Amino acid sequence: MAIAKTNLFLSFSLFLAFNNFVTLAKLPDYALSLAKLNDDNHLEYALSKILIPRVVGSSGHRKVQDFLISELESYGLTVELDRFSERAPIFGNLTFTNIIGKYNPNADEFLAIACHYDSKYFPNNPNFVGAIDSAVPCAIMLNVAKIITPHLSKIKQKSNLGILYIFFDGEEAFKDWSNKDSVYGSRHLAKKMSEKVTATQGTNEIKSDIDRIEVLALLDLIGARNSKFRNFFPNTEALHSLLVNIERNLFDEKQLEGKNFQFLASYSDNFVDDDHRPFLRRDVPILHLISTPFPKQWHKPSDNAANLHWPSIRNFNKVFRLFTYIFVFVHDENVNFRFKNLNANW
Ligand SMILES: [Zn+2]
Repeated sequence: MAIAKTNLFLSFSLFLAFNNFVTLAKLPDYALSLAKLNDDNHLEYALSKILIPRVVGSSGHRKVQDFLISELESYGLTVELDRFSERAPIFGNLTFTNIIGKYNPNADEFLAIACHYDSKYFPNNPNFVGAIDSAVPCAIMLNVAKIITPHLSKIKQKSNLGILYIFFDGEEAFKDWSNKDSVYGSRHLAKKMSEKVTATQGTNEIKSDIDRIEVLALLDLIGARNSKFRNFFPNTEALHSLLVNIERNLFDEKQLEGKNFQFLASYSDNFVDDDHRPFLRRDVPILHLISTPFPKQWHKPSDNAANLHWPSIRNFNKVFRLFTYIFVFVHDENVNFRFKNLNANW
């Protein structure tokens, strides 16, 4: 990741139209019962399988890939691989593999949830495991998918919504972070999805796959003590507010551990460069769930299991599980969070 300042056009009109995403005075019963469906053993098990050095092209990388695929398939999701080669500094030609688990794969619109599963290459530290960066987000995504998938099929949707669980490959720079040496997987997938067009069921409207993403929620740097997740994009503020609201409600219901509220109702105009960049450039609404300021172990050998803060992980996991479920539950028509005529400069 890298941080730069950017000027965002502030428009709050779009999310006001979707007030039902924000104004939960109290958690509905279905959400509260889902909050109690924890599977912390699975969360820890998933993390233990991912928390190994997994630099692109290494044997650990392949092991994690196999694990992610077999887990997603075991939840009944359809798994698609996006495999390609690209030259990288130091390593030369590398094979990258994005892994996408799909719930309701033939839907017309999608909620996309993403993180990266590669770990950063450090020439002097072959044991770097990238716990918060981004093994924990991967384990959370698996745990959320495992728990909610059986319950989603019970929801009678008026809309035709699916979920994409995207595990990006090659987020990390091999040498120095730049537009070329970073986010290899997300650059490839965003391009591929923008080039694939299909007809919408019923209306026959022609749309690219990338335009079928209603929002991309990107998880990164999760699991450190005292993490804070702010809102970076005005057009998805309603969704960020929903996270804030869910966390407050769960706290009131005594469903959270400790008193550290991780989701802050504050806006940051720091652009944190990450896997969302290629999607943002193509106008995909983004919810960037990355802790800022970055935790102190970021890109250090100390980003390991010993420095994880499990109450924060379990709390984040629970809040995000409810967020995902509620998004599908209240979704009765397609939601447009896209800016109109945004003159963006990233
Ligand atoms: Zn990193």
